[in-house]
Amino acid sequence: SAKAAGKGTLRLFQHDMECRIHERVRLEAKLRGALDGNDGLFVFYQPIVDIHTGKTTAREALVRWHHPQRGWISPGEFVPVAEQCGLIDRLGGFVLQSACREAATWRDGARVAVNVSAGQLGKGTLAPAVLAALVESGLEPGRLEIEVTETALLTEEADAIGDLRRIRDMGVRVALDDFGTGYSSLAHLRAFPFDKIKIDGSFVRDAVDRPDCAAVVRAIAELGKRLGVTTVAEGVETQAHLDRVREEGCSEVQGYFFSRPMPSERDAPLIERLNAALRDERASSR
Ligand code: C2E
Ligand code: MG
Ligand code: MG
Ligand code: MG
Repeated sequence: SAKAAGKGTLRLFQHDMECRIHERVRLEAKLRGALDGNDGLFVFYQPIVDIHTGKTTAREALVRWHHPQRGWISPGEFVPVAEQCGLIDRLGGFVLQSACREAATWRDGARVAVNVSAGQLGKGTLAPAVLAALVESGLEPGRLEIEVTETALLTEEADAIGDLRRIRDMGVRVALDDFGTGYSSLAHLRAFPFDKIKIDGSFVRDAVDRPDCAAVVRAIAELGKRLGVTTVAEGVETQAHLDRVREEGCSEVQGYFFSRPMPSERDAPLIERLNAALRDERASSR
């Protein structure tokens, strides 16, 4: 009957929910373990390039996790978990420390850009964490850049801005990430003197065949010029993307066309071993 079928659906639904909650709890425990043991977490780096000179001005630090059973998990999946279970400060601290140490070894003097999420803002803890990472690594403050999204600014906005002011007063640069995808972008530009605007990859990729998206990219690039702010086009994958964003006036570019995010040279041998082990595992379970 329909009633019985309804009950069945409900049971399936409950089962599905339970599975998801279990998976979540397992993921949380594993992430905690990875942070405790300093095991399986890595930082990859992707160059950001000056569109006119082709020189690397900065490298963005992007966290990676090699889960013992599942292999590589994307930050899009585990950063929100870290946020929700109170591990974001530890995860953020790990990335900040690794990135500053790594950048201190770069001979080309490029900056390092570190992403900061909502949960790290508005608590007064960001500036001390940034200062500790700078002191410990010996990196000049001017070589560190902090990336925040518009969405991250929405929570406790006044306090979040206060945290950003404190780090900017140290000489650290602050970038507005994924510009155009959040809420009231222009209000954020008035609330804080960002050093850089990163145009979301979705606009960049659509700008090739959509005049409306090209117009958005151009308007942001113009705005950047007027404000004296660098504009980075994210997600540049092809020569056509590059030509388009150059035409629209962006000053810097980032994307697979130049390079994928890559491990630090010190981590590369370990990563190669992990990848090989994963390939063997998958081959034998087939
Ligand atoms: P994001 O900060 O906007 O970083 C850019 C994302 O675009 C990265 O994804 C990068 O690998 C990807 N990307 C770069 N070039 C291209 C391209 O040409 N095409 C395409 N399709 N994608 C490209 P990833 O590493 O998976 O990170 C996703 C997001 O996770 C980041 O977006 C950032 O919001 C967050 N995230 C990454 N690392 C950290 C971290 O250490 N801390 C925090 N709080 N968030 C992080
Ligand atoms: Mg970013
Ligand atoms: Mg981005
Ligand atoms: Mg993003």
